[in-house]
Amino acid sequence: MKKHNFYAGPSILPQYTIKNTAEAVLDFAGTGLSIMEVSHRSKEFVAVMDEAQQLFKDLLKIPEGYSVLFLGGGASTQFAMVPFNLLNKKAAYLNTGAWSKKAIKEAQAMGEIEVVASSENKLFNYIPKDYAIPEDADYFHITTNNTIYGTEIKYDLDSPVPLVADMSSDIFSRPVDISKYALIYGGAQKNLAPAGVTFVIIRDDILGKVERKIPTMLNYQTHIDKGSMFNTPPVLPVFAALQTLKWLKQNGGIEAMHKTNEYKAGLLYDEIDRNSLFRATVVEPSDRSLMNICFVMKEGYDGLENAFYDYATAQGMVGIKGHRSVGGFRASTYNALPVESVEALIKTMRDFEESNK
Ligand SMILES: *Cc1c(COP(=O)(O)O)cnc(C)c1O
Repeated sequence: MKKHNFYAGPSILPQYTIKNTAEAVLDFAGTGLSIMEVSHRSKEFVAVMDEAQQLFKDLLKIPEGYSVLFLGGGASTQFAMVPFNLLNKKAAYLNTGAWSKKAIKEAQAMGEIEVVASSENKLFNYIPKDYAIPEDADYFHITTNNTIYGTEIKYDLDSPVPLVADMSSDIFSRPVDISKYALIYGGAQKNLAPAGVTFVIIRDDILGKVERKIPTMLNYQTHIDKGSMFNTPPVLPVFAALQTLKWLKQNGGIEAMHKTNEYKAGLLYDEIDRNSLFRATVVEPSDRSLMNICFVMKEGYDGLENAFYDYATAQGMVGIKGHRSVGGFRASTYNALPVESVEALIKTMRDFEESNK
């Protein structure tokens, strides 16, 4: 039976990425060697790294003065690397979920952290709107898409201080005005590549302003100076990321993805709002994520949760269990998820409603 992959991360990738990476595992660029056994200094892999950085810049329309890095360590290492490199005295953070909280915790070890607003009082089911960003902060940190709770900041906000964003789960899902950000980072395993590579987009001029000594590997400047080749980069995930970037370009780029993402999310939210058995955990339409769509059983139907899970699984739905802190269900609708998978989930929800009315 056809499987519909709704995992939150690692998550669905384009077949184009999977096929080309599988081929390169057997024979990389006609070398007769596997991508797993070639030097990262070989001319064939250097070409992959260069092209991936260039396509990243082209697709996101990254202005002059920014670098694109491919590092190890996951977004979680960035929680510490950001304050290590940018925090002198004080930084501001918006607390919109578990990932924001982890970022805040790491930063607190390095300076004064002002949490300008938090949606924790309502289990992070909305994006706080009324807050002031302190002008004396070294930077302001946001998580644009809250993978666990299904909320998203779908616009580029104005900040009087350098804006830093964790875009792990919505990079390449919508057009972004990069010039409004000083630094964007994310684990690539949500919308771009297999696990193992972390992307960083950084405006070069924000560095060099802190007094602390920064360990070599945690210093962005190290990686900028060496084009992400200071140490061995995650070779295979970078190769796979390049395939996804090519696929994005061939399929109309970010604008086209965004249209399809809005269409897919619209279909699913409409069904959740219509269906008598379910309700969306995020009520405010402007806060609803295009990438992670969370829903639970409506009051009075809690007892059907396991039954729906089993039924959906039998229909080929994979990875729709909600995060343990929210419960219910979460359908992740990343770029590579086809419209037909969303339609299959909707049919499953309708059929289940029919037989349980
Ligand atoms: C998954 C995720 C992370 C953690 O990424 P790792 O690469 O596992 O460290 C951080 N932030 C967000 C928004 C995420 O979705």
